[in-house]
Amino acid sequence: MIHHIHLKPDSWLVSAGRWSAPGDPLNVPLVPASNFLLGAGRSYARDDGTPTWEALEEILGGLESGQAVAFASGMAAIAAVFDQLPAGASVVLPEDCYQGVAGLAMAGAKRGRWTVQRLPLDDTQAWINACSVADLIWLESPSNPLLIVAELDAICAASRKPGAILAVDNTFATPLNQQPLDLGATVSIQSVTKFIGGHSDLMAGVAVTRDPKLWEALRRWRELAGATPGALEAFLAVRGARTLALRLQRAQQTAMILAERLEQHPRVNCVRYPGLPSHSTHAVAKRLLKGFGAIISFDVRGGADAADAVCRNVRLIRHATSLGGVETTMERRAAIPGQEHLPPSLLRLSVGIEDVEDLWADLDSALHAAAS
Ligand SMILES: *Cc1c(COP(=O)(O)O)cnc(C)c1O
Repeated sequence: MIHHIHLKPDSWLVSAGRWSAPGDPLNVPLVPASNFLLGAGRSYARDDGTPTWEALEEILGGLESGQAVAFASGMAAIAAVFDQLPAGASVVLPEDCYQGVAGLAMAGAKRGRWTVQRLPLDDTQAWINACSVADLIWLESPSNPLLIVAELDAICAASRKPGAILAVDNTFATPLNQQPLDLGATVSIQSVTKFIGGHSDLMAGVAVTRDPKLWEALRRWRELAGATPGALEAFLAVRGARTLALRLQRAQQTAMILAERLEQHPRVNCVRYPGLPSHSTHAVAKRLLKGFGAIISFDVRGGADAADAVCRNVRLIRHATSLGGVETTMERRAAIPGQEHLPPSLLRLSVGIEDVEDLWADLDSALHAAAS
């Protein structure tokens, strides 16, 4: 069932996915069942879902006016989409994108399942051209970690090979800042692990589509691959989704202030944040995004050693990977195996909901300490 939201997204996030019979619990319970008493349609969790997963799917499906399938992780949702491809399919992937997606695409290419072409995200014409020949057009916007914003409106409007899938990894924007299905994407993907969960305490993913056949196929893939969300994870993701609007609003407001100050900092070379007028795709971001998000990447003067020193010197900000939590985290991306192509001193900062002045004081002192 496609849920059409009659509420604003922030109200929907709070009110969707609840039961409504007198005496029902206000919150959908954590249901750790593998099987159900027969006779009412639901028999086995892996095949038929559980009330807890369904609450999450109702919230996230409705948020994008589509139907959702919840998975064990963002990568499981992504693998489900890739597995829809016919043998020998052609895949187009951004040069800058989540490393797990690139790894999955390359592993499949190596085994002869499909061919992969990488394109720069900001070369809109190249993407439009690719749409007429590719079976899977994979977009991620804003991208990880260079925060390039793709012209999704133009790319989604380009004519496609019949049956082609245009997928958008919407993890950095979240459905509150960008609605890929409204622009014409076939499927929108979220790593629920990040902003929707919001507390760095779960792994889950979701794929949302308005194509009932694709929805069925993704459900079937989840059943056969066994890539099901955990009961606790789904429960926590519902809990996280309730406050997504507030957390994101606060985090992106703080991110804008930190990005502006970092740009003026003597120890910083280059700041990438879609909200900054200096950002290469700022005009596209202004046109397409409701908010500029909570991720900033910036290069520290003095190279990799100086950047590592900044990571060692922060106190409030946690030196950790991943993103989208209430706590601000930071890491040097080129230190990660497979990410050596990135600028060596690039730090990716995931801005949380702490006080902006405390965060700035921490960053500023760590940047100065790293220089001495
Ligand atoms: C984290 C992430 C993923 C993968 O999600 P998992 O939940 O870790 O499997 C995919 N895309 C982007 C942009 C991400 O940040």
